[in-house]
Amino acid sequence: MTKRLYYDSSELCEFDSVVEEVAPLSPDESRPGLILRETAFYPTSGGQVHDTGWLTLDGAERLRVTEVADAEDGRIVHYLEAPATMPLVGAAVRGCIDLERRRDHMQQHSGQHVLSAAFLELYQMQTVSFHMGEDYCSIDLETPSLTSGQIAGAEKRANQIVFENRPLRIRYVSRAEAERLGLRKLPPAERDELRLVEVADFDLSACGGTHVSASGQIGSILLRKTEKVRQGTRVEFVCGERAVRMARRDYISLSEAAALFSAKLWDVPDQIRKSVEQSKLTRKQYDDALDQLAELMALAALKDQPETNGRKIVVRAFSHRDISYAKLFAQKVTRAAVPSIALVASAVDPPGLVFAQTVGGSADMGALLKHVLSSVGGRGGGSRDFAQGGVPAGCNVNVEQLLREAAGTIGA
Ligand SMILES: [Zn+2]
Repeated sequence: MTKRLYYDSSELCEFDSVVEEVAPLSPDESRPGLILRETAFYPTSGGQVHDTGWLTLDGAERLRVTEVADAEDGRIVHYLEAPATMPLVGAAVRGCIDLERRRDHMQQHSGQHVLSAAFLELYQMQTVSFHMGEDYCSIDLETPSLTSGQIAGAEKRANQIVFENRPLRIRYVSRAEAERLGLRKLPPAERDELRLVEVADFDLSACGGTHVSASGQIGSILLRKTEKVRQGTRVEFVCGERAVRMARRDYISLSEAAALFSAKLWDVPDQIRKSVEQSKLTRKQYDDALDQLAELMALAALKDQPETNGRKIVVRAFSHRDISYAKLFAQKVTRAAVPSIALVASAVDPPGLVFAQTVGGSADMGALLKHVLSSVGGRGGGSRDFAQGGVPAGCNVNVEQLLREAAGTIGA
């Protein structure tokens, strides 16, 4: 059983101990794991992620602790980046925790207590889970939805508690007493003694994590994205230094966007809306123009083409137009008044072919396309009247040659 020094002091970042065991948690774990008599290292649990830091052996060798895990049997395992060169069991160690990382976790975790209590106080929304990630944290609220007014309301109330700099106190009570005190959420009945964290006159909950000593140290609480999840609504948030970092990053992105539009920051959404509308209009005009161009080119091609056996066969390879234009052109040719076949290709990499005939024609476009493409490793298919396919990119296939071959097959 490892004595947990962080229970009594979240600020304790250096401590002396003794190595009791070297035991990885599972047989497939290759990293050495140290179990100490006592530790100030926090193991991943209760939504809060683990500490990192150093263990110095007998005042000499320094070992990097990269992960700390709760073995669920009372032991805490400190995973090392690399094995030690000297015997470990019984060795005296001095532990040193990465303070910046711990302080960040204390801010996020304490902020979560305040935020969860704010949602409960204002909207009777219970927090069902908490997650702390590398970039942001989240709570899942027991509610099917959340309005923007509720998000702003909870954020305002939570920050009010931060600005009031209320003390956070730790105390230990029996389970019976905890039930009488009315915690925000009572943990499952496993232990007789519970560790309570109280944000003065605002929140009381059972928690084994590390916390700030007064709410002002949380700095600020910034709510971000919300999304529907299976168990309710997820609210992403960041506290303290993370909130400042994220606001800075947002500001840089927004400034860059504003500079692109030569606009003020707050005008960026309007500018984007206008730009999207303009681009939709331009796209429509472009599509209309392309349609008209295909129509005119199809009519010109049909006019130049003599009729044989009661139909016209138009063969055309486009070197600078893509497969969708080739398709459009083929459709225009085969929907004109005279029965026709269009054997069309786009040479734009990856090259593509479109074979089409006026509906009900006597040839089989699908079979013809398959036949032509099979010689060059291409793939495609379709019906008797319309077929489309292509050859792999970078194949250096002469599409005009393929069209000539197809035309020859149907006797053009
Ligand atoms: Zn906590």
